Amino acid sequence: MARQRFDALRLVEERKPVKITPPSSKVSDYYGENTFGLAVMQEQLSSDIYEKLQNAIHRSEQIDQNVADAVATSLKAWALSKGVTHYTHWFQPLTGSTAEKHDAFFELNKDGQAIERFKGSALSRQEPDASSFPSGGLRQTFEARGYTAWDPTSPAFIIESGDGKTLCIPTVFVSYTGESLDNKAPLLKALERVDKAATSVCQIFDRSIEKVQASLGCEQEFFLIDRALADARPDILLTGRTLFGRTPPKGQQLDDHYFGSIPSRVTRFLQELEIEAYKLGIPIKTRHNEVAPSQFEVAPIFEEVNVANDHNVLLMDLMKKVSSRHNFRVLFHEKPFEGMNGSGKHNNWSLITDKGKNLLQPSTKAKENLIFITFFINILKAVYDYSDLLRASIASASNDFRLGANEAPPAIISAFIGTQLFDILTELENNGDIKVKKGDNIYMKLGISKIPPILLDNTDRNRTSPFAFTGNKFEFRAVGSNANNARPMTVLNTVVANQLDLFKKEVDKLIEQDEKKEVAIIDILRSYIPSVKKVIFEGNGYGNEWVNEAKKRKLSNNKNTPRALSVLKESSTARLFKRMKIMSQVELDARHEIRLSNYIMKMQIESRVMADLALNHIAPTAIRYQNTLIENVKGLKDIGLEDQTEETMITIKNVGKHLIQVKKLAHEMTQERKRINSMENVEEKAIAYCDDVKEKYFEELRWHVDKLETLIDDEMWPLPKYRELLFLR
Ligand code: ADP
Ligand code: MG
Repeated sequence: MARQRFDALRLVEERKPVKITPPSSKVSDYYGENTFGLAVMQEQLSSDIYEKLQNAIHRSEQIDQNVADAVATSLKAWALSKGVTHYTHWFQPLTGSTAEKHDAFFELNKDGQAIERFKGSALSRQEPDASSFPSGGLRQTFEARGYTAWDPTSPAFIIESGDGKTLCIPTVFVSYTGESLDNKAPLLKALERVDKAATSVCQIFDRSIEKVQASLGCEQEFFLIDRALADARPDILLTGRTLFGRTPPKGQQLDDHYFGSIPSRVTRFLQELEIEAYKLGIPIKTRHNEVAPSQFEVAPIFEEVNVANDHNVLLMDLMKKVSSRHNFRVLFHEKPFEGMNGSGKHNNWSLITDKGKNLLQPSTKAKENLIFITFFINILKAVYDYSDLLRASIASASNDFRLGANEAPPAIISAFIGTQLFDILTELENNGDIKVKKGDNIYMKLGISKIPPILLDNTDRNRTSPFAFTGNKFEFRAVGSNANNARPMTVLNTVVANQLDLFKKEVDKLIEQDEKKEVAIIDILRSYIPSVKKVIFEGNGYGNEWVNEAKKRKLSNNKNTPRALSVLKESSTARLFKRMKIMSQVELDARHEIRLSNYIMKMQIESRVMADLALNHIAPTAIRYQNTLIENVKGLKDIGLEDQTEETMITIKNVGKHLIQVKKLAHEMTQERKRINSMENVEEKAIAYCDDVKEKYFEELRWHVDKLETLIDDEMWPLPKYRELLFLR
């Protein structure tokens, strides 16, 4: 086994950066060349069809058959001109990854001749064999099969792979009875809801605003590990993280290698990734992170949420493909290495009107600031009221290892807004009832004109907050690096839409009672501040004081997924999703079940891999090493050097001590798994996996194995060590 480790190390020694040739020195020459974007559409479609498509995209209008046919025809022509042979509906099933089913463009006509055909109906709808995708019981209750339906709001794109080019059409995936079987359909509904609700609030101020778009800029963190080294670790291959491995001591020289500059192999990888992303119209700007060795980050320019999410999903696929061409493996796991920083996906989010105004941008003008403060406070109110749902939206087996760990956002959902804005809330809160007389400067009276211009740089950067206001956007940082953004974005946009609806109703009521508009708004906002303040936390989120303080404020601290997900069972959750027309009770239940099953599966795999590594790789190595030590002691005694055996005897005993524990724990854990596997109730089973397998055994087993790593001869150790994995060249 150790041979594979040393073979890998030798390979790494000889790695050379891969040469990259950009298609052109100017990005604008090839940006978006593989997407059927607006520019191509305008060129290819008649103005009438183009306009109808635009209405479908921007106003969610239905697409009729003749529009679909026309788009299909020009899409086919465009794709064929680029050498594409197949097309597929591209969708995001609840597994979290993406799925495709390729069909050739060519068909046989009635005379048996081959022709390239692609009709509107093929663009609009496809029936993948969906039986292998999880449906959380939806399929027992309903029709077994589902179909995919075109999402015209996200541009079609071409994927190049070794064996050719495929046209991918972004779609939603639904069952025949209309239940959504994917992540995209609920997201699209939530975005439509937030548009409606925010537009209607905007219209209190400005009747000309007709649309509000939610935007997302997703920073993606990841680790990059040499492929040969990663492949020599079954735990990385099968679980995406290291289950064992001694953390190098603090202040390790690793940092020196890292901080110097990006290793050229990595630079080349990033260059090629950028090129491939640009061809697909993914506007990334790269930079490297200085947090953990071998950890990096790419961030795009923000886009409309649905498009941004498709782009993120696509980008992750690209990263996997491109990294292997550079002999890397990219790790999206939230916590691949113990004692190192974990990875997240910071969801930068804001609301932008059709006039291009960011509603979260504070202004120096009093009137505009009233709009800002309205959205700002309503969003925080929504976060307070639905913090458990937001927590559930980011829960996963792998993110559990990161949330609440000492360098990641805590599992307690709180918001950070900075002292300036906090003071403004306090002032508003203390303002009391305001009477405005004719001729008064209303904003002055309301205390609104005094809001100082808040500079972007002025909002202190609190890295420990799960939900931070960063100048003109909120940043949901607790999202896991491996997650599909659709889930947190669905919840965030839904709860904000819900809150804006409530706010609008309350304001309308006061206005009906002849209250002045501005006064009504401020009165309602003021009434929210006590709750809003409960979810605001400006201090150090890593400290224990926050845990205690949060308890006092009755904020939840759900440290693990099975418990965080329990909010999905609550009737208030079902009512919210139903009221907002996002998900029905069945769809919600299905998701709860799928996510619990997913958790069980992940923990089961980790536990199995752990036991296998411990019993079949680590234990035999320990025994072999022990034997060489025993030989050594015997030999020393034979030649009369009995007095020099003491140290070795201690090591033999130490190795033996840990070896016994490793075997004992691995066996016990396996027994526990057997017991739990026979449990019927999914939720109880998930909780048992969490408490009786993960919590009870993982850390302890790891502790003994890591101790053995320090005791056993380096030449014999089978798994590439942290310093080797994290030392990139
Ligand atoms: P940071 O300092 O947190 O790295 P950046 O300014 O680099 O912040 O932005 C991070 C991400 O936030 C980028 O993807 C950027 O496009 C995105 N972003 C900036 N403004 C907005 C906005 N109004 N809405 C959504 N995302 C935004
Ligand atoms: Mg950021």
